[in-house]
Amino acid sequence: MKFAYDFHIHTAASPCGDEYMSPNNIINMSKLNGLQVIAITDHNTCANCEVIMEIGRQNDILVIPGMEIECMEEFHCIALFRDIETARYIENYVTAALPVLKNRIEIFGHQYQMNEKDEVVGEIDRLLLTATARSAEELFKEVRRVGGIIYPAHIDRNSYSIITTLGCIPEELNLHTIELSRGAFLQAYEQKYRGFSIIQSSDAHYLQDISQREYFMEAKSLAISDILRSIEPIS
Ligand SMILES: [Zn+2]
Ligand SMILES: [Zn+2]
Repeated sequence: MKFAYDFHIHTAASPCGDEYMSPNNIINMSKLNGLQVIAITDHNTCANCEVIMEIGRQNDILVIPGMEIECMEEFHCIALFRDIETARYIENYVTAALPVLKNRIEIFGHQYQMNEKDEVVGEIDRLLLTATARSAEELFKEVRRVGGIIYPAHIDRNSYSIITTLGCIPEELNLHTIELSRGAFLQAYEQKYRGFSIIQSSDAHYLQDISQREYFMEAKSLAISDILRSIEPIS
């Protein structure tokens, strides 16, 4: 079956995410846009994943818990998980190697945790918009060990992309999937990166940026395990 997806959506927990990126707003906008499966991918945290998964369930939208992790080499990676417990485990693994710095709201913005009524119930104190001291190699290995999938984000961009940072896709990372941002010319990348599974997503920080049935994927069913297996057959 074919499903409309967007696997790169930030919430108000990301300092750069708009404050209107609340659980109900994200699900309502995804529904309005005709999406069937989305992933929540805040910077180095999964703080708002569980509540959005629940609201998604009530609205027939599958929500995959995820994170956008900045590895030691300073490029962004999208990690997607089978369940919230695994996401939290990797969040702890990443956080344990984040620098002990406090977020500076006046520079970076708020990092809100929200509830099912879109109320702010907490604010993440540590700085999220920074690199963990986990190398790409160890991070990829650990995410895969716990049954998650991980791939480099927005490889077409000039900042925080694996290509800009490392100059290539190193073989030792054993990559199967790459992500393109909206606007990247898919056909050109398909030719250049033959053999890779290509995911294209919005990287939405604002409600109006969430995809509008632009990207589709084939999967056996609308279950997290089938979606992940469809992105990376080995998962
Ligand atoms: Zn990014
Ligand atoms: Zn992002």
